[in-house]
Amino acid sequence: MKKILITGSSSGIGKIAAETLKSAGYKIFQTGRKKLDVENYLSIDLSDPKNAFELYTFVKENFGEIDVLINNAGEYLYSPIDKMKLDDIIKVFNSNFLSHYYLTTLVVPYMKQNKFGRIVNIASISGVVGEANASLYAATKSAYYGFSKSLALELAEFNITVNSISPGWVETPLTNGALNEEEKSETLDIIPQKRFIEPVEIANLIKYLISNEAKGITGQNINLCAGLSCGC
Ligand code: NAD
Repeated sequence: MKKILITGSSSGIGKIAAETLKSAGYKIFQTGRKKLDVENYLSIDLSDPKNAFELYTFVKENFGEIDVLINNAGEYLYSPIDKMKLDDIIKVFNSNFLSHYYLTTLVVPYMKQNKFGRIVNIASISGVVGEANASLYAATKSAYYGFSKSLALELAEFNITVNSISPGWVETPLTNGALNEEEKSETLDIIPQKRFIEPVEIANLIKYLISNEAKGITGQNINLCAGLSCGC
């Protein structure tokens, strides 16, 4: 049974992805900031990349080596650039990208040795089309595009695929924290399909990308955004 580590799966997209993949027969290890008393779960703060090593060591000892890594944990920060604080810049970059980059360095040696691996990065449509007052968030997410392409090339001969998914607005606690009711309705107005993406749609795409059927898809970014990336 393939083993999956999915970061940031105490809520939102990650939680639904964990449930979906568990139902599909995978063995799942979950993380989140919340303390939860459940099996195969570690509460860990990924705003410090050194904690990625603690996470990897814990997972290896208590769950085993990882076949599939879903780099999902992330946070949103909406602020004009001249109001950004250095501590926030470091925190959001660490949480959204650097800790996951480091975690990937730790899981890849086993994948190479095992000649199998799947890495899926949850980026964002904000990194594809840009979002005013979200330059930091967008930068942490577009970092995944160069990362995915380069790593896909490096690992192709080992039967390891690396891809990104860029969701548009998904209805989760992150969105609910970022938008009030009025902003939600304004946001719906500019989404071509006039709807938020459901977390299960992201979960099903992850399920496909890690399947044997998708073994030829690597180094790609897939926009799952209800049309947001198509222009206006
Ligand atoms: P969410 O707030 O519901 O869940 C985020 C998860 O990440 C939680 O488990 C949380 O504990 C974890 N997390 C956040 N910061 C962390 C940190 N510093 N250390 C450890 N864990 C941390 O959000 P979501 O909407 O499910 O978002 C999941 C991913 O999808 C994020 O990377 C987000 O940027 C991305 N995304 C979300 C949307 C959206 O509209 N919701 C759109 C595009 C991309």
